Amino acid sequence: MLSYRHAFHAGNHADVLKHLIQIELLNYLGQKDKPYWYIDTHAGAGAYSLVEGYATKNAEFESGIARLWQRDDLPEAVANYVEVVKRMNADGELKFYPGSPWCAAGVMPQSDKLRLFELHPSDAKLLQENFADAGRRVQIQQANGFEGIKAILPPPPRRALVLIDPPYEDKRDYQHVVTALKESLKRFATGVYAVWYPCLQRAEMKEMIPALKKLPAKSWLRAELHVQGPSADGFGMHGSGMFILNAPWTLPQTLKETLPYLARHLAQDDKASFILESGGDL
Ligand code: SAM
Repeated sequence: MLSYRHAFHAGNHADVLKHLIQIELLNYLGQKDKPYWYIDTHAGAGAYSLVEGYATKNAEFESGIARLWQRDDLPEAVANYVEVVKRMNADGELKFYPGSPWCAAGVMPQSDKLRLFELHPSDAKLLQENFADAGRRVQIQQANGFEGIKAILPPPPRRALVLIDPPYEDKRDYQHVVTALKESLKRFATGVYAVWYPCLQRAEMKEMIPALKKLPAKSWLRAELHVQGPSADGFGMHGSGMFILNAPWTLPQTLKETLPYLARHLAQDDKASFILESGGDL
């Protein structure tokens, strides 16, 4: 079942949270003068048009990146993220949105490598096209990312961010995430792992969080942005979260300064809120 196309959602509130945290994690890894890899198990197409095609259908970016784009009071982490989006839109108009691979390529040193998995044939092809000039720095596999990471962990530099961002259309994805992390931690215990998930009134989602907290990592951090209160009928996504294993010690403070701002400016009703909690040695 591969019906999900990320282009419909490009630049929405969930992408804002995910890409902002992704960029913070990569910038932190980049502070040390030592190589690292970026591994994306569910990479999508890499970059999206906001002025034609799928993204224009529901224009989800209008209540996401578009609300931040022109502001001049951005907290530092939001400004770092908006800067990456601005680089893709050099003429000052918001026409394109960078997916996670593009965000990564934009902030990583040229010498550091990207390993990208994308299963959908159309998105894998677009991803190849979007990185056609990247040479050996970027390796793309049209393959199941949950399986594919087994072969590349631990990465040769022994430092990496692994982003796990499945569509969750198949409810088995919740279990696949936990299993993939268990296996990955055995191979590469010191890696930084970031999982994106939707906030839904769904049992599988509610069971995933305690399972993630029990994983044998040094630390965990959970950041959720709820742009509205849960819907009365229990359907629909009222927000999204990022669960990070082995996050840098600076991230909780950064998110303390960032999440209230995002909840205020990306709110879709008066119940917008956030959750920030951590455990282990964070
Ligand atoms: N990470 C991207 C970003 O932030 O720009 C968005 C990814 S989107 C949420 C999920 C992607 O995973 C879709 O493009 C989908 O085709 C792909 N996909 C679904 N199952 C997969 C699997 N088992 N392995 C790799 N990719 C998969």
